[in-house]
Amino acid sequence: MKIIDISMTIHKDMPVYKNLDEKRPAIRTISDYTSSSFYESRIDMDLHTGTHIDMPLHMIEGGMTSESLDITKLITDCTVLDLTNVGNKISQYDLKKKAITSGSFILFKTKNSFTETFDPEFVYLDESGARYLESAGIIGVGTDALGIERAQPGHETHKILLNKGIIIIEGLRLAHVEEGSYKMLALPIKIDRTEALPARVVLIDE
Ligand SMILES: [Zn+2]
Repeated sequence: MKIIDISMTIHKDMPVYKNLDEKRPAIRTISDYTSSSFYESRIDMDLHTGTHIDMPLHMIEGGMTSESLDITKLITDCTVLDLTNVGNKISQYDLKKKAITSGSFILFKTKNSFTETFDPEFVYLDESGARYLESAGIIGVGTDALGIERAQPGHETHKILLNKGIIIIEGLRLAHVEEGSYKMLALPIKIDRTEALPARVVLIDE
């Protein structure tokens, strides 16, 4: 059994969405051994930093928040799809070539996994792809971009998935993972009623 960490490391110079400085996590030392007998730190970061789960409220006014997340859907079989040949966006055309079954949790491995800086032209899931996944009956989708979509002003991809209760994980790292089937443990920290949750995600290759 092999355990593969597919989470981003949180640090002050990590890639963040659109390279916005206000999105960079700040970790401050509150107490150290020069002035105290113990060490403590504090973190200030956007909940969409690094590997995280989006809840419906992120894109849907009045949508469900973190307390409604069903953790049993995040400890599950999953399928990594190799889409490294996709140049710009993942659409229905790309997904039709893959075996996607009802009840599955799909992770996209794309060229995004091979860059360590934020690429404004990152590979995303377009509206046709989201509709295809919705009709296929998946329970969740993970991407190796910091966003499941871009360049769609109406945020159709998020809305199609979140309206159906399909879980979205963003910010995965999959360069070191082969296409195939795994067990996934995606464990978000337990925060009440937020629109996103940072998570540690690992795959188990049995
Ligand atoms: Zn997000």
